[in-house]
Amino acid sequence: MLVKIEQIKETGLKLEEPIALKLLGDALSGADSGDDTGFRAASPATLKASLRKVSGGVLLEGQFSAHVTSECKRCLGPVDMKVPVSFTLNLVPESLVRGDDFLKKEDESAMEKKERAQGEVGGSFELEDADEEVFDGKTIDLDPIVREQLLLAMPMNAVCREDCKGLCPQCGINWNEAKCSCETKPVDPRLAALKNIKLDN
Ligand SMILES: [Zn+2]
Ligand SMILES: [Zn+2]
Repeated sequence: MLVKIEQIKETGLKLEEPIALKLLGDALSGADSGDDTGFRAASPATLKASLRKVSGGVLLEGQFSAHVTSECKRCLGPVDMKVPVSFTLNLVPESLVRGDDFLKKEDESAMEKKERAQGEVGGSFELEDADEEVFDGKTIDLDPIVREQLLLAMPMNAVCREDCKGLCPQCGINWNEAKCSCETKPVDPRLAALKNIKLDN
């Protein structure tokens, strides 16, 4: 998913692009990073993005919903969830990072329009709060951004539900479905007595 800088007009660019199942799946299984999240992608997604030129580069706002599955860490049951991913990034051209003048080709009136456009944006959003990403100044590749933002949005642990009770470590019964007596069973008094025996004399 590539966006050329020329595609972003003064009024900005709005995109609605499919995100391939493979892209999501590879990110989750760590195909590139080697870091498997334990989640799998269940369906493709749709990226809704808006890009706007700002004096520091390009402001990118994006969102999508990732349908993922896994195995519950506590009860081993199926986990099926939609993970909302939403992000705002300030894409900074390399040239600006290096200290070149990114905007030197633009005439002054274009600059003024830009300042006004920024003024409108400024009210609802603080640019300083956005994370920065560097790009080559010509082409923005959305794929690595999607991968990275998906991983940032994923929950640490896969659980079928927040209050999943898990499995009994002793008898293996699913505590969501039934109770067992293991958890409340008092320590055998004979074993308790053994605990008090001093072994060093
Ligand atoms: Zn569970
Ligand atoms: Zn039990």
